[in-house]
Amino acid sequence: MNCRHCKAPLKHTFLDLGFAPPSNAYLTEADLNKPEIYYPLKVKVCDSCWLVQTEDYAEADSLFTPKYAYFSSTSASWLDHGKRYVDQVIEELELTNKSFVIEVASNDGYLLKNFLHAGIPCLGIEPTGSTATAAEKLGIPVWRNFFGEALGKILSIEGKQADLIIGNNVYAHVPDVNDFTKGLKSVLKREGTITLEFPHVMRLIERVQFDTVYHEHFSYLSLYTASRIFATAGLRIWNVEELPTHGGSLRVYGCHEDDARETQQGVADLIGQEINQGLQQLDTYLEFQPRADNIKNHLLAFLIEQKRNGKAVAAYGAAAKGNTLLNYAGIKPDLLSFVCDAAPSKQGQFMPGSHIPILPPEQLAEVKPDFVLILPWNIAEEVKTQNAKLAKSGTRFVTAVPKLSIQ
Ligand SMILES: [Zn+2]
Repeated sequence: MNCRHCKAPLKHTFLDLGFAPPSNAYLTEADLNKPEIYYPLKVKVCDSCWLVQTEDYAEADSLFTPKYAYFSSTSASWLDHGKRYVDQVIEELELTNKSFVIEVASNDGYLLKNFLHAGIPCLGIEPTGSTATAAEKLGIPVWRNFFGEALGKILSIEGKQADLIIGNNVYAHVPDVNDFTKGLKSVLKREGTITLEFPHVMRLIERVQFDTVYHEHFSYLSLYTASRIFATAGLRIWNVEELPTHGGSLRVYGCHEDDARETQQGVADLIGQEINQGLQQLDTYLEFQPRADNIKNHLLAFLIEQKRNGKAVAAYGAAAKGNTLLNYAGIKPDLLSFVCDAAPSKQGQFMPGSHIPILPPEQLAEVKPDFVLILPWNIAEEVKTQNAKLAKSGTRFVTAVPKLSIQ
């Protein structure tokens, strides 16, 4: 296999998590009696452009789209994050009712509705039917497509070039990152701006976030590598912000390469920091697997100890990262009896691979488990606040990454 960006041969493995079912392939009760398909979950690193990327295998590009159960609006902190971004970007870019905003992977419209309320025309691009319908109900126009150069050109021909193109948590999910970036180039107005948010691979490595690895996630990006990909498409990253979301993300600001805006010092500074943290040395990547294994072993030891002591352990958050962790550790309902999730679309279903049942959050108050393992550690504080009553009655909250923590 060759690098998805620079086409150099991929010789080095960053992380091998064995085999796992697609992390969003939630199961119904009837599915539990059927065979389940597991795919290799291996991540490589390119020693030429340092793009960390999921290894290719049969059907990868078409597999992970049909019943995508994730609705952005189910997380309160994510809604706040979106609102703050929109307020900031409208002011910075001086957007008005004459501007045009496109969001790629607009999900259920949680972000674009803020532009709608501000009177700024917008368009969502979203291939997943269920979330697109939810956005349309809010009054947001949606094109139900995958985004790439071909669609970018069609949008451009239809007069839909954008002053602002937003891609939040989509850049890492596209199989062909070069084609996606060329699409951005095609649909960007002369002086337009692109903002993309994606998890920062520097933080993934530093904080051992191996559970953010799943099949749907094709790339793990540094600012250096993202800048290279932009440059290849005739674009330039001229500014960057670090965000706390998803354990540490970047928000990059892009423009056409010949745009009048100067590249900010912060871009070179952060690339310098990446180099200092070893992101351009192969050893940094090769040393990651044992660090991930250590976390898995500690969690397993904790769960087995609670089982021996007769303690009840439940989990919170049927998120993709939870599935990676549970499947890599081989955890089943004997060690973790159920997982609660606020999304009605997941309740009553089962976690892929581990077959742990997904129940509504109210179940926690009924059962009062001794421990609640919070799988999406990025919203741990939110979950603890929502369940403050439970903590008062003696339940303790546990997170496994970056190391086992019991509070
Ligand atoms: Zn490469």
